[in-house]
Amino acid sequence: MSRQAKAVVCREWGQPVQVETITIDPPKRGEVTIKVAACGVCHSDHSATTGKIQYPPPLVLGHEGAGVVVEVGEGVTELKEGDYVVSTFITMCGKCRNCVRGRPVLCENARKSMVTLPDGTVRTHGKDGEDLYVFGACGVMAEYATMHVDNCVKIDDDVPMSSAALVGCAVITGVGSVFNTAQLEPGSRAAVFGIGGVGLNAIQGCVTAGAEMVIAVDTNEKKLEMAKAFGATHTINTNEVEDVSKAIKKLSAGGVDYAFECVGNGKVVEQAYKALGRAGTVVVVGVADMKDKTSISTFALPADERTLKGSWLGSARPQYDFPKILNLYKANRLKLDELITKTYSIDEAPQAFEDMIAGKNARGVIVFE
Ligand code: NAD
Ligand code: ZN
Repeated sequence: MSRQAKAVVCREWGQPVQVETITIDPPKRGEVTIKVAACGVCHSDHSATTGKIQYPPPLVLGHEGAGVVVEVGEGVTELKEGDYVVSTFITMCGKCRNCVRGRPVLCENARKSMVTLPDGTVRTHGKDGEDLYVFGACGVMAEYATMHVDNCVKIDDDVPMSSAALVGCAVITGVGSVFNTAQLEPGSRAAVFGIGGVGLNAIQGCVTAGAEMVIAVDTNEKKLEMAKAFGATHTINTNEVEDVSKAIKKLSAGGVDYAFECVGNGKVVEQAYKALGRAGTVVVVGVADMKDKTSISTFALPADERTLKGSWLGSARPQYDFPKILNLYKANRLKLDELITKTYSIDEAPQAFEDMIAGKNARGVIVFE
């Protein structure tokens, strides 16, 4: 059936988000409709409202959601009504070269459906019947969302939905950048730049993987306090040091083995690269402006055997990694509930975005009735 739902929509780049009542079509073949229970507010949602991430408006935001399946389309065998799911903004076709070689976040078909469902069309319409794009084939900052099953990961029903939602982006992105992309070895020394929802999870990923030293770097003292609560052994406020890379080298007796850039800024990538010890690796997680560039010492790359690599959705295999992260949470090895600084109703969504930009929250989460 067709449903009316409140949704958080970007109508124009540079304007605050709007809460609107939209129409959600029923699922087509291979799709499901979920009643969304919770959706985290990610910096990437904000970047889509400024044009930093160039998703065209009108766009229904939200890619970090959890909910319950309320309707299944034809041919769906993986999910049934009542199943709990977490959204994933990468459509994993399971058949292309990258999917079959175990790299589903690089699915060759996903590129075709960044702001639509995989068939190139949408199930979301505004009040005049116009099509609304959906962030990452999800659009889960809404009371209901119709998604392809390839954008849904089934989870157990014994975890709070607001915590489970965060696994769909902040947690897998941060923790996965450590476990999957860096494959950090126990005893490593690490630095994390940018302690937002993603960076906090890189910190706890480093701790869980057995890092000896985890240095948190941010411009905001409040974020550094949060970093300590998530296991950072040292903190650096960039406003209080002249040269952050030198400060890290001093703390780590020659440079870190791994530096995670969770800001999305070429200058910070450069700082991270300069903070490496020999054989060190920078993992770039932050999403920069398309025109942004970075500069590194070409000489040090071979001479120190350094590595510079990127991490997309924590190099995840969502169907395997999301349940694994939830199991680590249940075993008290990863913190999820503590990531939620504040919850908001959908009507308060504009405030949730303002609070994120002001750096008030580890994660703000929109919780639905
Ligand atoms: P956030 O807004 O919650 O946190 C960003 C943090 O960076 C803040 O604490 C801020 O104070 C800090 N910061 C800003 N400038 C800094 C600087 N020069 N040096 C040190 N710290 C600085 O954002 P988030 O939701 O955690 O997202 C972080 C980044 O990761 C964004 O660019 C987002 O788009 C990106 N992201 C990437 C992926 C991926 O798959 N690679 C997935 C999700 C988000
Ligand atoms: Zn995100």
